[in-house]
Amino acid sequence: MNKLETFVIAIRHACEVSASIILLSSCVVMATSSIDLIAIRNIGARYDFPPPKQTSSNVTFTGKFTTMTFESDSRKLIFNKILVWLNEPVTKNTQDFLLAQYDANKIIDPLIRLNQRRGITNNLVVIIDPGHGGKDNGAIGPRKACEKKIVLDIANSVKRKLECPKISVKLTRKWDSALSRTERTNVARNYKADIFVSIHINSARNTEASGVESYIMPGPGFPSTVGNTTDNKNSPANKFDSASIQLAYCVHRQILESTGAIDRGIRHARFDVLQDAPCPAILVECGFVSNSAEESNLTKKKYRETIADAITKGIQTLVTPAPGVAIISTPSTVINSSLAAQPAK
Ligand SMILES: [Zn+2]
Repeated sequence: MNKLETFVIAIRHACEVSASIILLSSCVVMATSSIDLIAIRNIGARYDFPPPKQTSSNVTFTGKFTTMTFESDSRKLIFNKILVWLNEPVTKNTQDFLLAQYDANKIIDPLIRLNQRRGITNNLVVIIDPGHGGKDNGAIGPRKACEKKIVLDIANSVKRKLECPKISVKLTRKWDSALSRTERTNVARNYKADIFVSIHINSARNTEASGVESYIMPGPGFPSTVGNTTDNKNSPANKFDSASIQLAYCVHRQILESTGAIDRGIRHARFDVLQDAPCPAILVECGFVSNSAEESNLTKKKYRETIADAITKGIQTLVTPAPGVAIISTPSTVINSSLAAQPAK
């Protein structure tokens, strides 16, 4: 178990997550195509939300720390104003909005419990992966802005800003060198990484497309949100799904707040570096080089620094205790036994 998993488990132990898993399991109302579904009202009850506001097409819960809106026949969840793509569309029967149990356990639960995080007690190893390099330029903008150079600059800046006595930051490449996907994730493996963040710049034929996307793995058996892929392979990386959505949320939210960019959502894709990562991992597309306004921004050092600042703050948010929650050093034996006591997920 790495330190971030320990951190996540510490959160869950404190919040009696075992009870929530049992409760959510008991609320399964139907299963279609081997996907277990639960009534969304049961989620509201579990987390003590007041009764939701419901229309024919959506349902909104508003709690002390969290507002979330589910839309019928859609994978789009709006969580505290951030767009998060679910693994499976929400559906509706005569009485209830229905949600995949995997989404309840691996997206909703980790996001709600983020405000109860306890922070880290040990040194954290963060791998920053600037995409592309060498002969692989990545995306090229209409005015020739080059993805591999932009992301290397952002990555170097994140390393400078994030590194501190408790956080060690390693780059997969320090200069314009070519790296295979295996070499990238091997860096994470060799350093026993706790967090892996791959940085990219987007491109699209539609030159109007703009904004920020963050990616995590789809759940086992669930489709990606990109392209027409119906790939539904399982992956060992799925064991990090809860921690990856927390990491994605913290970083994605901070980039949007800092840049004012359009929110294209936290999405799911089996990108090589995500599938092979030995720890919680995200891939962030920090803007569209194919959009002339965003290309112009991305060529400015100040804007790249803003993005680097945001990625840094996002990671720091994840590993810092929530207000009013003290760091508690829990013996590993206790953490392990609490994990063992949880029902299989
Ligand atoms: Zn790229």
